[in-house]
Amino acid sequence: MAWDFETDPEFQRELDWMDDFVREEIEPLDFIIGHPNDFTDPNREKLIAPLQAEVKKRGLWACHLGPDLGGQGYGQLKLGLMNEILGRAKCAPVAFGCQAPDSGNAEILAHYGTGAQKDQYLQPLLDNEICSCYSMTEPQGGADPKVFTCSAELIGDEWVINGEKWFSSNARYASFLIVMAVTDPEAPPYQRMSMFIVPADTPGVEIVRHVAVGYESKGAHAYIRYNDVRVPRDHLLGETGQGFIVAQTRLGGGRIHHAMRTVGKIRRAFDMMCERSLSRETQGEVLAQKQLVQAMIADSWIDIEQFRLFVLRTAWKIDRYKNYKEVRADISAVKAQMPKVYHDVYARALQVHGSLGLSTEMPFAAGVLDSFHMGLADGPTEVHKVTVARQVLGRYQGTEELFPDYHLVRRREQALAKYADLIEQEVAQG
Ligand SMILES: Cc1cc2nc3c(=O)[nH]c(=O)nc-3n(C[C@H](O)[C@H](O)[C@H](O)COP(=O)(O)OP(=O)(O)OC[C@H]3O[C@@H](n4cnc5c(N)ncnc54)[C@H](O)[C@@H]3O)c2cc1C
Repeated sequence: MAWDFETDPEFQRELDWMDDFVREEIEPLDFIIGHPNDFTDPNREKLIAPLQAEVKKRGLWACHLGPDLGGQGYGQLKLGLMNEILGRAKCAPVAFGCQAPDSGNAEILAHYGTGAQKDQYLQPLLDNEICSCYSMTEPQGGADPKVFTCSAELIGDEWVINGEKWFSSNARYASFLIVMAVTDPEAPPYQRMSMFIVPADTPGVEIVRHVAVGYESKGAHAYIRYNDVRVPRDHLLGETGQGFIVAQTRLGGGRIHHAMRTVGKIRRAFDMMCERSLSRETQGEVLAQKQLVQAMIADSWIDIEQFRLFVLRTAWKIDRYKNYKEVRADISAVKAQMPKVYHDVYARALQVHGSLGLSTEMPFAAGVLDSFHMGLADGPTEVHKVTVARQVLGRYQGTEELFPDYHLVRRREQALAKYADLIEQEVAQG
């Protein structure tokens, strides 16, 4: 019997240490450092590097990776508990060496990179000496990769990439980009594309502009044009036509890691909502005494607890089955639930704080907007709901009967037939 919702004391000690460390040392950095991947910010080196050293000393660096790559090989469940804490602060994932999109890109390089590429790109990425970008979405449509046209053609010993990409996060800070491009336009839809490493300083990589989302002051999502960009033949990751398979290496993990961090973000807003409810008075009593405010507190707590357990169970399943594919419905369901819980809790926290809540002096308006980020990046909610429905429906089958299998009249007839010898006919007919 193994239903256990407790953390073992030894690991709990690490979590407690992390909790203090993030609160005391990292949360303040969010007010000083503009973007945790901006290597040109002098404060970054001064303030984040010592914290990274401390995390390494504690043995908590890059815990999403196995020991062969310098991580702890903790697995997704422990990572989930850690990421809940890291989700509280923007700079925390970088301080612990597990920030997106580098974590997913590292997984791709670890699986598909050559020895030389691992030395050149993976190791510095793991050491956070550089950061990376994942460049897949195109301006004409992100949710449907079948419409992607950015192409790569093998000419001599080089791949030549041409086309446009949209919302390539962190491109302005990245040393290299992982680019998905069409290598065989005639192939079946999911075998048309391949994945490439493109060093950011390769001639022809043109940043058209850096796009900002609503709460950012500086755009971090690049609109990129690849103009005859040439990379060596071995910069193909995986086989030609395997782009989607390679992408899955990062997306399964990426989605669940976002969800883990989101638990931390929404718990933070919830803490604020509770403190405010117990402090702000109106009409002679604190907000916490108003039933409609109590409803907001209760709904938020229920949403958070449900979501958190679902995230952790999904993480546990990934560890158990060692395979994202087996857990596809769960990952998509968590991904689809995430923006709603995030949005609802932040919106309630905003409301409880009144005008202060809506102001830029509090994090709620940005959080409400950021919930849409979670509903779009790594695939829109609608697409994930379709995946959930397909996977779940695959476990059922229809009937050819006129009335359904569970039609009560039919069930009753079946029950009567089954127990005909044992029951009184009168009762049965009654
Ligand atoms: C903050 C942020 C960061 C991002 N970072 C990256 C990155 O680093 N690299 C990268 O490659 N991409 C990135 N993206 C892009 C992201 O993957 C796309 O936004 C996403 O795939 C949706 O594509 P789209 O924006 O073109 O929307 P569209 O494809 O135009 O879809 C618009 C809307 O149509 C609806 N819709 C779409 N498909 C369906 C469907 N099958 N059924 C029902 N309704 C549907 C949904 O409401 C959807 O939101 C990022 C996006 C955001 C917001």
